[in-house]
Amino acid sequence: MSVTELAPADVWRDKIYSGGWKTGGAGTMPVTEKATGAELGSIGCASAADVSAAAAIAKEAQAAWAEKTGPQRGDILREVVRLLQVHRDEIALQIVRETGSIRQKGQMEVQMAIREILEAAALGSQPSGMITASDVKGRHSVARRIPLGVVGVITPWNSPFILAARAIAPALATGNAVLLKPDPQSSVSGGVLYARLFEAAGLPEGLMHVLPGGAETGDALVRDPFVNMISFTGSTRVGQAIGAVAGGLLKRANLELGGKNPYIVLDDADVEAAASAGAWGSYLHQGQVCMAVGRHLVHERIAEAYVESLVRKTEALSVGDPFKGNFHLGPIVNERQAANVDRIVEDSVSKGAKILAGGSRDGLFFKPTVMVDVAPGMPVFEEEIFGPVAAVTVFRNDDEAVTLANQTRYGLVAAVVSADLRRAQRIADRLHAGIVHINDQTIMHEVFGPMGGLGLSGNGQNYSTLTNADQFTEWQWVTSRESLPAYPF
Ligand code: NAD
Repeated sequence: MSVTELAPADVWRDKIYSGGWKTGGAGTMPVTEKATGAELGSIGCASAADVSAAAAIAKEAQAAWAEKTGPQRGDILREVVRLLQVHRDEIALQIVRETGSIRQKGQMEVQMAIREILEAAALGSQPSGMITASDVKGRHSVARRIPLGVVGVITPWNSPFILAARAIAPALATGNAVLLKPDPQSSVSGGVLYARLFEAAGLPEGLMHVLPGGAETGDALVRDPFVNMISFTGSTRVGQAIGAVAGGLLKRANLELGGKNPYIVLDDADVEAAASAGAWGSYLHQGQVCMAVGRHLVHERIAEAYVESLVRKTEALSVGDPFKGNFHLGPIVNERQAANVDRIVEDSVSKGAKILAGGSRDGLFFKPTVMVDVAPGMPVFEEEIFGPVAAVTVFRNDDEAVTLANQTRYGLVAAVVSADLRRAQRIADRLHAGIVHINDQTIMHEVFGPMGGLGLSGNGQNYSTLTNADQFTEWQWVTSRESLPAYPF
């Protein structure tokens, strides 16, 4: 069965990609369509021994890759972008199948990945060092960036294509090799597609490995002595575990984790526009986005009108299989996750929250849900939901809005909506988040701005045009003199 032209199932059936397509040592696992449960094929699972073999191959290949000029490395990435343009529709549809997102979100991921890869390609043409001052005449002193070596990339299922792109592209551009471990729920769109794209673009063998598997495969990647850095996107729980192991091994770990993002709507806001943006922020991809609007904090003067508008918009949304119609929402990724949304909603109702729209599901198809009277201490205020739930909390003044917004251990994104930019900026200045938007909702991904979270949302590293060279290389100090100087003994 052909899943895509780019990556027909015959190529990857029961295989991993590591120095070519081969059988994995940890068996196989199914690749499924989330809306129907249909099996699209089965893929190989990488064992710890596979990870170790891949890391050894990658280490060797990396040395030759680092010898290439930066622009030559960039050319491979530019060819990947050309192929992405050719195959963009089928890639977007594969993302829809494997993650259950609507088509618009599949297309958005491909477009954002193109931007990420183009910006990474340009990294190869940037200066890679500078001449520094020296106290000694005749000492030539240079600070230069050198690749880290082998970079392990571990990604989640929710936006597998873009989250892989933002790490593998800058890692390769700066002269590293990559071991990519996608989530078991998105092995093709988060892994196989990149194996095929880079293979077709002429990336030398051994530089890119796709190692499907679960926690054990990921753990082996983190611990392997040839892996010098881990780029991880996923839950806070797993990020903390990886950070502990990587710290002990003195490895660099970029950890991009969960969020519970506040969306503050002030009393001078355009209520209809604010409710529309808030609905998009809570319901896009069924709320399964780290940057989703997790808490709608609304001024008491407009709360009634805002909730009325939000409920009206919510009730107009349709939910269904993205291949059977132009629905606004698709399925939740799996039963465990859907049951967790049920728990958060039910527990919060038992603590005093009220459901004004939705609140129930048909299998994995969860109706978009509006909850009001939400207060700190309720699960819907505290926990990342990863479901289509808009939780509304009312505040009385700007100070209370800031207090509520910061009443979380996460710190990924925050947003403020107001007709008065200065007032919004004063509030924004007090928000504890790695990303703050004024007059927009919280879901925004642009390679140009530093993307990273504070608190339990990450360890403050960033992915972006501004920061990628720092993230994926290390500084080396190199000096030279005409001849050895004389020393006292
Ligand atoms: P998860 O943490 O369960 O899994 C993420 C990846 O880690 C998967 O590939 C998984 O197989 C792997 N993994 C699991 N245990 C491991 C271990 N012990 N060692 C090494 N690897 C291991 O996350 P998920 O449920 O797939 O994704 C959703 C989470 O990701 C949410 O919390 C979401 O907020 C977060 N997320 C964050 C960002 C961001 O940029 N901050 C972006 C997208 C998603």
